[in-house]
Amino acid sequence: MGRALISRGVYPTQTTDLRIQTSRSGGAGVSLRGMAPATNRSPIPPENRQGSPSSKRLEDPKRTRRALLRWFDANKRELPWRGTRDPWAILVSEIMLQQTTVAAVAPYWEHFLNRWPTPGDLAAASSDEVLSAWAGLGYYRRARLLMESAKRLAKHTPENAAELRSLPGIGEYTAAAVASIAWDEPIAAVDGNVERVVSRLAAFPDDPRKAAGKRYIRSLAQELLATRRPGDFNQALMDLGATICKPRTPDCGHCPIAPTCQAHHAGNPELFPALPPRPTPTPILRVATVITSRGKVLVTERKEAPNKGFLELPMLDINPDPGVDLSEAARSEQLASRLCTHMNSIHDLRIQLGKALPVHRHSITRYRIRILPFRGKLCSGRVRRPLFWAPPGDARPFTTATRRILAANLPSFFSMGSDVT
Ligand code: SF4
Repeated sequence: MGRALISRGVYPTQTTDLRIQTSRSGGAGVSLRGMAPATNRSPIPPENRQGSPSSKRLEDPKRTRRALLRWFDANKRELPWRGTRDPWAILVSEIMLQQTTVAAVAPYWEHFLNRWPTPGDLAAASSDEVLSAWAGLGYYRRARLLMESAKRLAKHTPENAAELRSLPGIGEYTAAAVASIAWDEPIAAVDGNVERVVSRLAAFPDDPRKAAGKRYIRSLAQELLATRRPGDFNQALMDLGATICKPRTPDCGHCPIAPTCQAHHAGNPELFPALPPRPTPTPILRVATVITSRGKVLVTERKEAPNKGFLELPMLDINPDPGVDLSEAARSEQLASRLCTHMNSIHDLRIQLGKALPVHRHSITRYRIRILPFRGKLCSGRVRRPLFWAPPGDARPFTTATRRILAANLPSFFSMGSDVT
């Protein structure tokens, strides 16, 4: 089949898995585990730690499988990509869902596929076009790797998950998800949701992210797989993890597979999976300014990763984050004056800062970033590179933070020419 579907495009080599944790949950915010707030997880109690991993088995896999598919048929989430078996469309959805929520991905997915319905179409697009269409989704490395994959897909049609894995940025999970959904390949797709559900089903006492634990969870998921409906089964496990078997609040009372769930029987499902404590988040504070002139906005081009080459507002890092209350800091002359001094000493521009705009917050890996933007005015000096005036609707890619600050405070800026805002 896939061969027919793939007639719209193709696929192939390398195993750079950029997946950290997919976010099929549809919840708010970013799902990257390293970005979540630190928690104190209780260790698995001794009574749950008996036996080696290999002694942990699934209880009645057949019964679990049937119950889960019945539940899925009646309760599956309506997602835009659920109706397609086109491997290219599924692949794009899977790449976009890496580290991003369902709600955020939906409009981007539709727009992206309308514009580049086949790998060949994307392969022929310019990097600026693609990155601009990706703007707002973040983690632009995904877009770059997808472009690389598209070039290979335009020349060769993959046959199975193993071949898909050879594409840049496609790891085991993504390859298995695409192959099982598009081609009915009987292969388990283990993302963070599935890892959690299977860990709980087996009351698996060890870290499922370590090599041995990973292999074991994968083998259990494979054992559980419904080989006649592998795509539906994989999606059923993902949906269960996203809607019922949630990380901190598993709703066992409404779970279709509770009768065979060992963590539920033990009364402590929230202790699984047995992951190590998360790293302590690092706070970062930035001060930025929005300066306009005749509809244009003063921006600079980033010189370093991440997002090298992207446009962003002039800003200054205040490190370490002094932990100030930004509602107070919004009135802080000290932060504003540091940015003024920076603009003067680095860019030879004299600026005046006015009204404080709403604080923008976002997370990247373990960093919790707060950006405090001020409206500003250019008093004197000549704008020179790397600063320049970006015209309304500028099609070049902006960093997500800058894009959001401008969208919130200068809504007309992106509505003039950019079709994804
Ligand atoms: S019974 Fe509870 S812990 Fe077990 S799979 Fe269902 S929701 Fe998760």
